[in-house]
Amino acid sequence: MTLMKSWVESANNAQTPFPLNNLPYGVFTTNALEARCGVAIGDMILDLSAAEEEGLVLLAEDPVFDVPYWNDVMELGSEAWDALRARLIELLEDGAPEQAAVAPHLVPMDEARMELPMVVAEYTDFYAGKHHATNIGTMFRGTENALPPNWLHIPIGYNGRASSVVVSGTDITRPNGQLKAPDADMPTFGPCKRLDIELEMGAIVGTASELGHPVTVAQADEMIFGYVLLNDWSARDIQAWEYQPLGPFQAKAFATSISPWIVTRAALEPFRTSTPEREKELLPYLQEPKPMLYDIDLSVTMKPEGGTDTTICETNYKEMYYSAPQQLAHHASSGCAMTPGDLLGSGTISGPEKHQRGSLIELSWGGKEPITLDTGATRSFIEDGDTLTLHGAAKGDGYQIGFGTCTGTIKPAVKFP
Ligand code: CA
Repeated sequence: MTLMKSWVESANNAQTPFPLNNLPYGVFTTNALEARCGVAIGDMILDLSAAEEEGLVLLAEDPVFDVPYWNDVMELGSEAWDALRARLIELLEDGAPEQAAVAPHLVPMDEARMELPMVVAEYTDFYAGKHHATNIGTMFRGTENALPPNWLHIPIGYNGRASSVVVSGTDITRPNGQLKAPDADMPTFGPCKRLDIELEMGAIVGTASELGHPVTVAQADEMIFGYVLLNDWSARDIQAWEYQPLGPFQAKAFATSISPWIVTRAALEPFRTSTPEREKELLPYLQEPKPMLYDIDLSVTMKPEGGTDTTICETNYKEMYYSAPQQLAHHASSGCAMTPGDLLGSGTISGPEKHQRGSLIELSWGGKEPITLDTGATRSFIEDGDTLTLHGAAKGDGYQIGFGTCTGTIKPAVKFP
């Protein structure tokens, strides 16, 4: 696969995250336009609501793009998704006869504000990166008990909060919570002192599964509408005190950021790659019929207030031990119904090397080895005013399938009580 040429000039270079090959879906608003669905092409957004109104894109009898979410399109199913992508390529490719009709509906990206691309139905977060799980387990429980006995058999997860999923650019308020040092008699209540990120990918479920009906890994793959970058903000000190025996609760419930553009499965198809070799054979319902991960370069930058960005982590989505379709198949295996707009966090994506660790607790090894930023400042965890940004792109031959960024700045904790 090489770069597909578009009549939108800014889409025709190796650096743009949004060439014609990509066509990611988002929800945007401008000073003149109410929130609606759009597709990114180069440095422009095609206003799909306007294109639909003019009959350039017709997916269903009733309009589906004049609303601030993609859930209606998801519900139409994968044949409609394929038809939409084919039609958009037809409209935007070099030499398209519709160019003159489509061009008036392009909005410059720098005039737009992005919103959450969908109504987040529910949010589940997994723990499916082996390097991360080993690092965290070593710090929390020691080397011998680093990986729990179930880890090589089950994609472990917990039910998170959809209510606190926010779009990239939203400020994050430092959480308050119960804290207890190991040698203290009593916990205290106050601002988290060990605030962290988790570099993850989010898979967005596009079609429903029925209550009581499991799905295969192959079916699960077909159910996924697309992928976003996801930062599972984490309060490590709250987590350490509360997590046993039911897993994280308030340590993760306060905020999860996602990037605004949903990159479709179709755009990522050339970048499919296999999960790593199994250390223990998986039960049949979790085995993959074909490669289900993607080769996506990921990085994290950190910027203190008034400072500059330092890259603190570089890794790749292919480091995961379990893929999103495996996680989705496991999620539905009990008969749990999955719905359009369900968000599945991959789990922190750390590689084997030190600079590939996708969280600060790993990068600073529990705070014992602070990292140094380009400004000279050091950090074990996040301070107020710091901005953390995730970056992601699948790199092809002379083009890339970019995710844009997923960013958030930390504001001080509220005074409570
Ligand atoms: Ca997580």
